[in-house]
Amino acid sequence: MSQATAPDPIPVDQLHFAMPPKHETAEDERRHRKERLAAALRLFGRFGFEEGVAGHITARDPEFTDHFWVNPFGMSFKHITVSDLILVNHKGQVVEGRHHVNQAAFAIHSQIHRARPDVVAAAHSHSTYGRALSALGELLEPITQDVCAFYEDHALFDDYTGVVVDEEEGRRIAAALGPHKAVVLRNHGLLTVGDTVDAAAWWFITMERSCQVQLAAKAAGKPVHIDQASARHTRDQLGNDLAAWINYQPLYQQITRSEPELLG
Ligand SMILES: [Zn+2]
Repeated sequence: MSQATAPDPIPVDQLHFAMPPKHETAEDERRHRKERLAAALRLFGRFGFEEGVAGHITARDPEFTDHFWVNPFGMSFKHITVSDLILVNHKGQVVEGRHHVNQAAFAIHSQIHRARPDVVAAAHSHSTYGRALSALGELLEPITQDVCAFYEDHALFDDYTGVVVDEEEGRRIAAALGPHKAVVLRNHGLLTVGDTVDAAAWWFITMERSCQVQLAAKAAGKPVHIDQASARHTRDQLGNDLAAWINYQPLYQQITRSEPELLG
């Protein structure tokens, strides 16, 4: 029997690899951000990140850059469509849409968007394991590959004074976040940011899971820490917003395939 010839490799440039899309007009970019925002909210609903009316994800408008799109007050994450989203200006007034804005969403997110021009999106909710970690007033420790994305790149807002409704408190949270991708709000929950909606949503989802892993590992025993040099190296590999965007795409595919009406 003659030896079969092994198949030729496909040239790498002919293999599919998704990258964040670029848009020519503000209108196209706005539509894109709103679609991604509605999808991220649906995923937060699917993952059980809702606690009553708490929780919001915002996306900066590409044209009116001191305005942001956000989920309407009092509507389930699980039902959000693109046309439900509201546009809020720098004074907290709704300028597009027919629903109220959550005052905490405005107080916190307006100050984050103001302090961080690089940030397109910010995500916050009262997810269970994030809240549990926040109750301990602790940061994430470098105990798994995934959590190294947050190594020396998240902060603790080490205060709690009630539901955030004033802009001064939002300013203090933005100051605690600093240049990082995430902040643990003590006795409250998690907040993440990104240069795309997908990145901010991915950081939130993976941070919540990392909180769960840390709590489980520490409850079971004494986790082994990754050494500083390796934790930094892993962060440099995994910890950028493009890596977050790439990691998030399977989730975007899932939610838009199973709930295509969210784009309506
Ligand atoms: Zn909150």
